[in-house]
Amino acid sequence: MLEESEARLRILEQVQPGPVMWLPLELGLDQLLAQDIVGVLDSPPFDNSSMDGYAVKASEAASGSVLSVGDEIQSAGLDRDLELSKGGAIRIFTGAPIPAGADAVIMQEEVVRDGGRVTVIEGVVEGENIRRRGGDVCAGQCLLDAGSTVTPARIGLLASQGISEIPVHSRPLVQIVTTGDELVEAGIPLLPGEIYNSNGPLLQSAVTRAGGVAATSHAADQIEELQEKIGQALSTADILVIAGGVSVGERDFVREVLSNLGVVTDFWRVRVKPGKPFVFGCHENGTLVFGLPGNPVSAFVTFSLFVKPVIQRLLGHRLDDVTESLETGIAAEIMTNDGDRPHYLRGIQQGNEVRLSGTQQSHAIFGLSKANCLVRLEPQVTIKVGEAVEIWAI
Ligand code: AMP
Ligand code: MG
Repeated sequence: MLEESEARLRILEQVQPGPVMWLPLELGLDQLLAQDIVGVLDSPPFDNSSMDGYAVKASEAASGSVLSVGDEIQSAGLDRDLELSKGGAIRIFTGAPIPAGADAVIMQEEVVRDGGRVTVIEGVVEGENIRRRGGDVCAGQCLLDAGSTVTPARIGLLASQGISEIPVHSRPLVQIVTTGDELVEAGIPLLPGEIYNSNGPLLQSAVTRAGGVAATSHAADQIEELQEKIGQALSTADILVIAGGVSVGERDFVREVLSNLGVVTDFWRVRVKPGKPFVFGCHENGTLVFGLPGNPVSAFVTFSLFVKPVIQRLLGHRLDDVTESLETGIAAEIMTNDGDRPHYLRGIQQGNEVRLSGTQQSHAIFGLSKANCLVRLEPQVTIKVGEAVEIWAI
């Protein structure tokens, strides 16, 4: 059986960031940039006033000086190409271009205006209250590195440069096929022996949250139907995720069907709990194929450990960032793994402290719903209260 980290690396070896596409800036929030973004403009693009006041020559505007003011006003917007005359001051507003000859702006609170004259109360030094061209950003400067996340502030930065589209890696299409004769979609009353399909909606939303585009379909445990549904999904998917039917039961046909459809199994079973059964393979058209255990908790955990990193990598996350997702917490209760495989339990992390979230059986989706992390326990280990424990963010 493959070790967990080896399995993840073997999967990720086959994955490179996906094709680059250009996205309207307003749709870019939380995406990763696929390329560096270089400034196209100096910002500010021209020297301008940071205050409402009077544009002056600092050397003429000492405390007590009287300056003449004309009727012309330079407000923000159109540059009126005004020129400061000797001994003069020009009325100016925030964001307006600095008139030729002026080298400072006096705040309006610092002068007394009397018709065509102002008396300076508090003088200014050269450059005061002027925002210089290129003072924030220079054209040609790298503004954002490839791989950085687009935040509201970065959207503001790009918008200030007049940039309306950003390069991102296109979102992978993840086809999810759930399997099982016993499964029914919501809205249809259950007959005896049936249960509702929870893996479909669970995996669909997990794919969406990871940044992929999800589509779902369902097949009964019949070879022909599985072959048809999985075949259809394979024809369009970047990633195919099949839930259930990959075990060794009499009605677990998925591996046989995958082989019929030309999917070459790379490995089956990983030394991790849950992780048995788990199938990873590749189709000749390049689709990566995952067969997850049918139990919803197991499906979610194996998705988090092995499929989500692939989606993130396709979207341009760094390899280290998707393989080193373990953090450390402090156990707030005793935790034991007496099995022979590393075990991922469902945990609740509050600050540094981690406790387990109720019953840990692999069908127990209520406990999973309360969890905000997975707790990883090495085989044959007991973690005492106050000891460090590894956690995997979900
Ligand atoms: P399997 O891996 O197909 O043997 O399924 C293991 C367990 O998971 C069984 O109890 C199934 O009923 C259950 N199961 C499989 N698929 C789903 C699903 N889509 N939603 C909820 N439970 C499922
Ligand atoms: Mg089944």
